[in-house]
Amino acid sequence: MHYQPKQDLLEQRIILVTGAGDGIGREAALTYARYGAQLVLLGRTESKLQAVQAEIAAISSAPTHIVTLDLLHTTPEQCQTLAEDLATKVPRLDGVLQNAGLLGDIAPMAELSMTMWNEVMQVNVNATFMLTQALLPLLLKSNAGSLVFTSSSVGRTGRAGWGAYAVSKFATEGMMQVLADEYKNRNLRVNCINPGGTRTKMRASAFPQEDKNKLKTPADIMPLYLYLMGDDSRRKTGMSFDAQPNRKPGAAE
Ligand code: NDP
Repeated sequence: MHYQPKQDLLEQRIILVTGAGDGIGREAALTYARYGAQLVLLGRTESKLQAVQAEIAAISSAPTHIVTLDLLHTTPEQCQTLAEDLATKVPRLDGVLQNAGLLGDIAPMAELSMTMWNEVMQVNVNATFMLTQALLPLLLKSNAGSLVFTSSSVGRTGRAGWGAYAVSKFATEGMMQVLADEYKNRNLRVNCINPGGTRTKMRASAFPQEDKNKLKTPADIMPLYLYLMGDDSRRKTGMSFDAQPNRKPGAAE
């Protein structure tokens, strides 16, 4: 995407990123901070979140909050408590990037264990839903809230072997569409990003043989992440965007 954001694009914005300790989420948190946002970093590994918090402190004076949560074991009650705690620290959320995800096993449907199916659905769908539901009141306090879900090309067209992960990403696209329709007359827009093949740990575990130097880095795909959090996307809702529109899905050749 050729997008040139203004340097103060996210000034006065408060943005929560899930899976902010690593990969695309880490890069998004750092990028949002560089463009002026105050960050809430959510993830399961506190030390990784603290490292990102320290990096942000070097570029921004706004306080960065850390929320440690394991989405694999979270409950609606825990998400509600988390949101209530957060409401004592920040007045509102202007953006939520639902980015944390679990790949699970790459295996044919016939061989997928129920345990793996449940784990992938719990992290990618159920926890995303619980967290979204709990955070909606804070998002609705913004005069222009942006809720962004993370999809995948296998969440638009099924592909052999991508089992629970692919199905969970179809569900993510569905969640986005339903919410976008429900809030179409309010100050909240809801969209999806498909990052496209990006150089992270998750990608390396899905395609261990691939030459990772042929992949875009998380930093390369940030223009779309910025666009959807800033005012330039204010009228966009219910849409699914590709961070790498010209990329063919599958392994890098
Ligand atoms: P990574 O595996 O590099 O990072 C995933 C992040 O999610 C990590 O910070 C991880 O935490 C966190 N996370 C995983 N499980 C949990 C959990 N149970 N509770 C809390 N946090 C958790 O993945 P990517 O950066 O590659 O992926 C980011 C998103 O983009 C995902 O939704 C993925 O499906 C999607 N995507 C990625 C593509 C790619 O090519 N990279 C392509 C298409 C979609 P921790 O650091 O503690 O492990």
